Amino acid sequence: MARRGGTRRGRALTAAAAAAVTAVALAPAAATTTVSAALTATAGANTSSAAVGAPYSVTTVPLNDGSRAVVRWDPCQSSVTYRVNASLAAPTKAGRAKALADVRAAFAKARAASGVPFVYAGTTTQIPNGGNWSGTLDRAEIVVAWVSQKKAKTRSSLLLPGTRGWSAGTGGYSYKIWTDGYGQPAKAAIGRGFIVLDAGQNKSFKPGFGSGVTRGDLLLHEIGHVLGLGHVSHSDSIMFPTILPRTSSGYRSGDLAGLVRLGSARGCLNVPGWVWTQR
Ligand SMILES: [Zn+2]
Repeated sequence: MARRGGTRRGRALTAAAAAAVTAVALAPAAATTTVSAALTATAGANTSSAAVGAPYSVTTVPLNDGSRAVVRWDPCQSSVTYRVNASLAAPTKAGRAKALADVRAAFAKARAASGVPFVYAGTTTQIPNGGNWSGTLDRAEIVVAWVSQKKAKTRSSLLLPGTRGWSAGTGGYSYKIWTDGYGQPAKAAIGRGFIVLDAGQNKSFKPGFGSGVTRGDLLLHEIGHVLGLGHVSHSDSIMFPTILPRTSSGYRSGDLAGLVRLGSARGCLNVPGWVWTQR
């Protein structure tokens, strides 16, 4: 399995510009820019040499004043909602219920670590897919779905290839850059996210959290991407690109430091409502 999952930054989607450009001063002015990032995880069997690397990895983007912004959610928004499509997560109803419980537990852990207020909004039948995934999510800011690449109806183009077959999971986000008015500094914030998990590899991941190669760790890894974390070379970290067998699951010190950097400890972003409602 790949030690290092692929990284893709689709400079995709809308440059949803024109709408507000003629607005009067102090009204929302500048263009928004939508960028998607997607990163992958694979299941792994063993640990190789642990390279010493940065404790965490975040993405920064250049702003119009020459500064750079760390790409993250506004931790001060009232909620960051997510929906779950677990229909392919397990063959039995009880198994699917357990998968949903794992998703909710993983988001709760990520919320505790980052302060980003994840809130479960219910189930969905949707599979995030295609270049416009961020504009089509089903009544939530994040959709988590198990997918099967064998059939067109259950496939997602967002699940990236691994070195052999498909990645076990891919998580990503979409962010926008805006200004609050003419002459105001630009800001950046994530506003949408997705996680797609390969149902064909369900058996590679032990349900729950704890020891082994767990589904819990896979979910924590992908939620880390949704929050803005990238991969690190330190194999102790959950953000190592391969989900490794462990004696216990959960974010490690480097992951936790990264989540603090992305979360409520770094203050609010005060994203105006129009940034994500404008198309
Ligand atoms: Zn990853």
